[in-house]
Amino acid sequence: VAPSEQKAKDMGHLKGVKNIVAVASCKGGVGKSTVAVNLAFSIAKLGYKVGIFDADIYGPSLPTLINFKSHLESPVDDPKTILPIVYAGVKCMSYGFVSNNKKAVFRGPIVSSLTQQLLYNTLWEDLDYLILDTPPGTGDIQITLCQELPISSAVIVTTPQKLSFVDVLKGIEMFDDLKVPTIAVVENMSYYICGNCKELHRPFGLGYKSMLMKQFGIQNSYEIPMHSDWSKYSDMGSPVILTLPEQSDIVQQFRIIAED
Ligand code: ADP
Repeated sequence: VAPSEQKAKDMGHLKGVKNIVAVASCKGGVGKSTVAVNLAFSIAKLGYKVGIFDADIYGPSLPTLINFKSHLESPVDDPKTILPIVYAGVKCMSYGFVSNNKKAVFRGPIVSSLTQQLLYNTLWEDLDYLILDTPPGTGDIQITLCQELPISSAVIVTTPQKLSFVDVLKGIEMFDDLKVPTIAVVENMSYYICGNCKELHRPFGLGYKSMLMKQFGIQNSYEIPMHSDWSKYSDMGSPVILTLPEQSDIVQQFRIIAED
């Protein structure tokens, strides 16, 4: 579903974006930003024009997840427009690029308008996919953001624990209410392969993916293993998908998610 003409009229540079995919988790710390960023680079590897917008004003992750040297600039003749940081061909924008690591103490309505202003004023040009790394939760900020934007689809990131599942239900229901289809559930930290015995272990059990898929008719679900490469390369600002060899399991797994 492309952004409707009517909505696109008032949305500044967002009007050239064909599809906005919201990556949401409802609970913090489950790996949403890691999945969002690596999904963006995996889709770009397939030859699409991709952008990523980190919509978390309180805790932006993108400045940590990509190691960039450039500064934000505006075109000389258009000071209201911001040029995104381009990393490995993907256009990136985050409040963290603007704020110089200053703590955000804004109230909800200001956060919503700040987020939208940054999103509309960024020169995305024509993108096939804009990956929206949404802030965790299902409160006013998330609802306003998802209501105001022509989001095409949602990808939910969760972990196998019941506490995460309970929040995911609220997230999918929020998207259902907003008529945004949830197209995939990515279960992160589903298992790990023991370095000694090489066996697969599920420390958090089997999770609730199949229940979610049945209940909400979601077509696609994926399992991402726990692996030290994720945190090691993420902390270095070197996205795993761009760092590990093409034939590694993780890169291939994300390729499948991106293709779907
Ligand atoms: P969220 O956006 O949900 O708050 P993050 O993407 O910031 O979560 O991830 C939280 C932490 O967990 C980060 O340090 C990240 O590197 C780490 N992490 C994410 N996924 C995995 C994984 N599958 N295995 C190991 N560490 C992971």
